[in-house]
Amino acid sequence: MKFYNLKENDEQVSFAGAVKQGLGKNQGLFFPQSMPSFDEQTINKLLAMPFVERSVQVLHPFVEEDLSKAELTEIVTDAFNFPALLQPISTDRAILELFHGPTLAFKDFGGRFMAKCLQAFCAKESEKTGVEKKLTILTATSGDTGAAVAHAFHGIENIRVVIMYPKGKISLLQEKMFTTLGGNIETLAVDGSFDDCQAMVKQAFDDKELADTIGLNSANSINISRLLAQVCYYFEAVAQLSRVKSDLSQIVFSVPSGNFGNLTAGLFAKAMGLPIKRFIAATNANDTVPRYLETGEWQPHDTVATISNAMDVSNPNNWPRVEHMLKSGLVAQDCVSSVSIDEEQTQSTVIQLTKLGYISEPHAAVAYKALQYSVQEGEFGVFLGTAHPAKFKEVVESIIGQPISLPKELADCAGEPILSKDMASDFGQLRDYLLAAV
Ligand SMILES: *Cc1c(COP(=O)(O)O)cnc(C)c1O
Repeated sequence: MKFYNLKENDEQVSFAGAVKQGLGKNQGLFFPQSMPSFDEQTINKLLAMPFVERSVQVLHPFVEEDLSKAELTEIVTDAFNFPALLQPISTDRAILELFHGPTLAFKDFGGRFMAKCLQAFCAKESEKTGVEKKLTILTATSGDTGAAVAHAFHGIENIRVVIMYPKGKISLLQEKMFTTLGGNIETLAVDGSFDDCQAMVKQAFDDKELADTIGLNSANSINISRLLAQVCYYFEAVAQLSRVKSDLSQIVFSVPSGNFGNLTAGLFAKAMGLPIKRFIAATNANDTVPRYLETGEWQPHDTVATISNAMDVSNPNNWPRVEHMLKSGLVAQDCVSSVSIDEEQTQSTVIQLTKLGYISEPHAAVAYKALQYSVQEGEFGVFLGTAHPAKFKEVVESIIGQPISLPKELADCAGEPILSKDMASDFGQLRDYLLAAV
């Protein structure tokens, strides 16, 4: 299967090309030439399979030009070495816990899959040309991407990782999880917002000379490999539900959204035939999308800092993919709605969930609250647990008034020094920095 550029439709690349390039010409996003889809019988067979085996089947049509089933199986086994767990909250609500990976956030799925794919593609290329292929991963993070990408790539030979993040705008523990590794992981604390960081990444990609010199690649959620990996846990959620429910026609997913990668992956799963009735895209005060769906006007405001800070994004970079899917009819327009949840509601929802016996964190709380608003009688609501509550220890403890313990992954890095360099929100400085080390 080929992937084409949504802005410059003539640009078509294989999966490996799309993964290595990240973004297409004119900053266009890659999108599959055709959407694989499974009939009901095949879906039922898939749902009965174990997670890794099913994920190989789901991913294979997208990657078959570049990876054999055996190679894909090795990558998926390695990347998805932790579970996605569906936990009931009440009779018609469940959370899909996606935070059991090494950095305790759903981004481990995409980050690890992408790292293993790139590693495989680099090795193939080095073998073919006899010259060692070197890459630079440049990425911007509003929190969890940085950790997932850093851990996924740490120690991989010939891949240099440079991660930018808005200084002082992510939690200390989040920061510690990716700035303390060293080695091939370099981190830049930028004096600006996440959107500023993201704009600098885009600018770097537009700079042909720079991109070629350092072998530039992005690991943001714009990278198609990350999205495809995320499709797999929607299948896993429905598989787990299918063991306890006979009617799968009323499943609604509420997705806490920032860059809308997670929502895009869910829409892929639906377009492929997975029984999902509809989606609710839950945002915090950064409500560009809910306003857009209501008014038809795309008017990003300045980014607002919230306690669900991984969703502090006012110009979500995956939106063109969502828009394409809705406009082309891959997914019906009325299958996506969007709700913005404010800070007060987020806090009171964390408390509400605690009363139901579930300790949560602000991102999942935003999604749970959005379900409360819009789920109808008879529907079954699944909201995504995108991060472990301990990643937001300070804010969660202050809301619920009780201590929560740190899992081992966090305790290990909490005492390590931060190795980041400070940088102004200035592309020239970033360029010099990237070239200086070549
Ligand atoms: C990244 C992130 C999100 C937002 O996901 P998108 O795919 O960017 O919409 C939500 N919650 C947490 C905890 C995250 O790290």
